[in-house]
Amino acid sequence: MSTPIVLVGGGLATGTAVRELRSQGYDGDLVVIAGESHPPYERPPLSKGYLLGKEPAEKALVNVESWYAEHDVDLRTGVTVESVDPDARTLRAGGEDLEWTGLLLATGAMPRHLALADDSGAPVHYLRTLDDSTELTARLEPGARIGIIGGGWIGLEVASAAQQAGSEVVVLEALEQPLLNVLGPEVGALFAQLHREKGVDVRTGVRIDSIDSSSDGPTIGLAGGDTLTVDRLVVGVGVAPVADLAADAGIAVDNGILVDARLRTSAPGVYAAGDVANVDHPVLGHRLRVEHWDTAIKHGTVAATNLLGGDAVADHLPYFFTDQYALGLEYVGHPGPDGFDHVVITGDTEGPVEGRVFRVWWMRGDRVVAGMHVNDWDAIDRVRELVGTQADEAALRG
Ligand SMILES: Cc1cc2nc3c(=O)[nH]c(=O)nc-3n(C[C@H](O)[C@H](O)[C@H](O)COP(=O)(O)OP(=O)(O)OC[C@H]3O[C@@H](n4cnc5c(N)ncnc54)[C@H](O)[C@@H]3O)c2cc1C
Repeated sequence: MSTPIVLVGGGLATGTAVRELRSQGYDGDLVVIAGESHPPYERPPLSKGYLLGKEPAEKALVNVESWYAEHDVDLRTGVTVESVDPDARTLRAGGEDLEWTGLLLATGAMPRHLALADDSGAPVHYLRTLDDSTELTARLEPGARIGIIGGGWIGLEVASAAQQAGSEVVVLEALEQPLLNVLGPEVGALFAQLHREKGVDVRTGVRIDSIDSSSDGPTIGLAGGDTLTVDRLVVGVGVAPVADLAADAGIAVDNGILVDARLRTSAPGVYAAGDVANVDHPVLGHRLRVEHWDTAIKHGTVAATNLLGGDAVADHLPYFFTDQYALGLEYVGHPGPDGFDHVVITGDTEGPVEGRVFRVWWMRGDRVVAGMHVNDWDAIDRVRELVGTQADEAALRG
């Protein structure tokens, strides 16, 4: 065996990078070390089709399981990389020391925990892995009372799945609107409306004072005196990058692993990609760590190219999508540290939110800093075209 390129992860960034390495003609030794007991898979189905029982787990695999053997990739699942030595170009995993010529760290992110919930003794679900989703899907039964703490993407997608499964759903959000920090108050309010129209009890601006485990189920005490008893509690309060492995190896980290636009870490030969990578973004002009599907794919490709001595740059604008009930959207851009000062909404403003077709433009002055379409499936090219440009109302409506 020659000294391999080693990819550490088990998510979409790793799955994309390994495929890309082979498709770009790399025929040397290649090892993938995936901490979970599954081949690399993507996570969006875990809160959508798979959670709803409509899609098999295999559909989430980045490459079918047989691909690895067919492409002579040494795939080690259920194995954690314990340490990396960038100077010696070695790592330790599963009790074995391994040399590498190039290394990709795509260790992803893990849910932030809520001590109040964890300490309550009540059954609490976090949703990150296939196994988490398998466990939760069994709980989304008709009539089950599902309490969701956090009105972010995960919380709202779980609310959608639970409602569709016939459960009674309550969403508890600390801020004044769901998704407030991402989408702002106007669009956040539309998401609250979407879920309320579906019968979900969306409570915003709430503070949770206590969580107790009673014989009837977890009981949540809200500031102001209200209590809620549910059968299952789901917590979706954000994720934190998994950067300990890099930090312990002396690689620079700060809200993830610090990389340049070519995804190079502070250690020669070591790259980072996906949710864990805090990139010096060449177009936006500031650092950015993106926790979205498309970034994991783009990064996987850039990292593979550069591991092979190429010169690819991670310069794409952030993109994400969500599906909730029959509503689907795609978003491009990033308002950055300066934010936006107003939004322009073009398209339908009446009728149930689920069925509306509209676009949203986040503006700083006359500059479009981000754009999104909702149910307007031919619009994404136009959204991409306008983001980053100056545009007047007529252009936005065009
Ligand atoms: C439920 C859910 C739904 C989502 N839906 C959407 C969506 O609709 N749209 C969207 O744009 N994005 C969505 N995302 C986000 C998207 O899935 C992530 O951005 C993407 O998974 C990031 O991929 P990654 O490869 O960087 O990391 P991950 O997918 O987190 O994979 C990292 C892997 O590394 C492994 N690992 C960590 N440390 C080690 C170690 N020391 N040794 C070995 N292995 C290790 C972990 O176990 C994990 O399997 C969703 C995420 C979740 C959880």
